[in-house]
Amino acid sequence: MYDIVIIGAGVSGAATARELSRFRARICVIERGEDVCCGTSKANSGIVHAGFDAPEGSLMARLNVRGNQMMEVLSRELDFPFRRNGALVVCRDEQMLPALETLRQRGVQNGVTGLCILNREEVHSMEPALADDVCGALFAPASGIVCPFELNIAMAENAAVNGVEFHMNTEAEDIRRTEDGYEVLTNRGPLRTKCVVNAAGVYADRFHNMVSETPLHITPRRGEYCLLDKTTGSLVSHTIFPLPDRDGKGILVTPTVHGNLLTGPTAEDIPDKEGVCTTAEGLSRVMERAALHVKGIPFREVITSFAGLRACEDGHDFVIGEPADAPGFVDCAGIASPGLSASPAIGEMISELLRKRLNLEPNPEFIPYRKGSPRLSSLPFEERNRLIRGNPAYGNIICRCEEVSEGEIIDAIRRPLGARSLDGVKRRVRAGMGRCQGGFCSPKVMEILARELRTGMDEITKAGPGSAVLKGRNMEWL
Ligand SMILES: Cc1cc2nc3c(=O)[nH]c(=O)nc-3n(C[C@H](O)[C@H](O)[C@H](O)COP(=O)(O)OP(=O)(O)OC[C@H]3O[C@@H](n4cnc5c(N)ncnc54)[C@H](O)[C@@H]3O)c2cc1C
Repeated sequence: MYDIVIIGAGVSGAATARELSRFRARICVIERGEDVCCGTSKANSGIVHAGFDAPEGSLMARLNVRGNQMMEVLSRELDFPFRRNGALVVCRDEQMLPALETLRQRGVQNGVTGLCILNREEVHSMEPALADDVCGALFAPASGIVCPFELNIAMAENAAVNGVEFHMNTEAEDIRRTEDGYEVLTNRGPLRTKCVVNAAGVYADRFHNMVSETPLHITPRRGEYCLLDKTTGSLVSHTIFPLPDRDGKGILVTPTVHGNLLTGPTAEDIPDKEGVCTTAEGLSRVMERAALHVKGIPFREVITSFAGLRACEDGHDFVIGEPADAPGFVDCAGIASPGLSASPAIGEMISELLRKRLNLEPNPEFIPYRKGSPRLSSLPFEERNRLIRGNPAYGNIICRCEEVSEGEIIDAIRRPLGARSLDGVKRRVRAGMGRCQGGFCSPKVMEILARELRTGMDEITKAGPGSAVLKGRNMEWL
């Protein structure tokens, strides 16, 4: 019997698990993917929004601003990259300049600090690559950038170290009420629990509708991106947004915390909750739109494209809390953008709700800190040498694009909730994330995975069951 079962190990589920691990409770997270960070949390812009865009008075606005405030301390506690690089919402039409002031006022109402309007000269001196017709901007110094994978993984690892169980490859199929709570039926058997947290991303409406008579409806809204090589990452230093329109925040241009340049996303409602493919039209739109407000984006340097699905609930807000007719069942639904920014605050809100419901006592052994593995490429020369002298595996470079050593890959596999696939390694240490996109290092990473996991090379997958890379005795490439 669990106290709490959390469905989904994206940023919402991981943040909730971490916050709940501050209390004495028996908690488990079930995730249908082979790893944490397999849903929308792995495919987004990685912006920690300041909070001027969400409607005044909405839960989105409140949790965005709170999450933004929490992110810096969290990044220090859990050792993941976060940088407050600031955002500029740029205007290219003088007649639209009043819209910047409207946005500023909304931000002030939401509690965002430091917002100011910049004129043509000011904004061009801050960002020389802006299009010549940019005539003003809203500057939001509180906006930041984060590595979404590392944020998600760090929160989950810390929750695991503090006693939360994680069950991967475990898909919730049905939920039934019992006398003392709920029974979650999974592909690996039933789980009995007092409370459920429904953090299943685009599928959260499905689970809500199993227990409540008040229906929820989530539409997947696809966003497509182009990611450019690190040689282009310094084209802009702030996150550049156009003025928002009815499709949302629009197509941005931003540096990433790892030094790439990212452009996107589109916004297209689709019926398919698995529809994360990119399209020729979508990517063309990204390139066209991005080039309107930033000049000279070298699209020849695109190294990959991807798409993610926003979980848009019909009420256009986060849906967090217990439905009136399902006590003990806590929705964390409709977590569209800015869900990544808000995630620490989402975890805080849900854990407070469940602390009260279950009368939870503090966990005196809670460890708030997590130390990430050493990153060779970011260490000073002397420290690199010291590390290599201590363990020669750190001197064996496996991924040349991102300079990732064998030692770092071994760490990624051996850590709590360690990597079990090529993508798991990629998200933790960036092997395969660079210019060649794993073309050269994948076979070597597979060898390390097979050796560490004591399994055959044909058992190693790209991203869990159904994504084998090799087949048969002769190790034929699929
Ligand atoms: C294009 C795009 C751009 C975005 N940009 C930003 C941004 O810059 N800043 C920002 O703050 N936010 C952004 N967001 C929003 C942000 O990415 C999401 O709000 C956030 O990742 C949602 O996290 P989640 O944990 O709720 O959902 P998810 O990450 O989708 O996690 C849900 C998890 O539940 C699992 N699951 C589903 N069904 C089951 C089941 N039956 N059993 C077990 N597990 C199940 C899934 O596998 C998944 O891992 C963006 C989103 C998109 C799509």
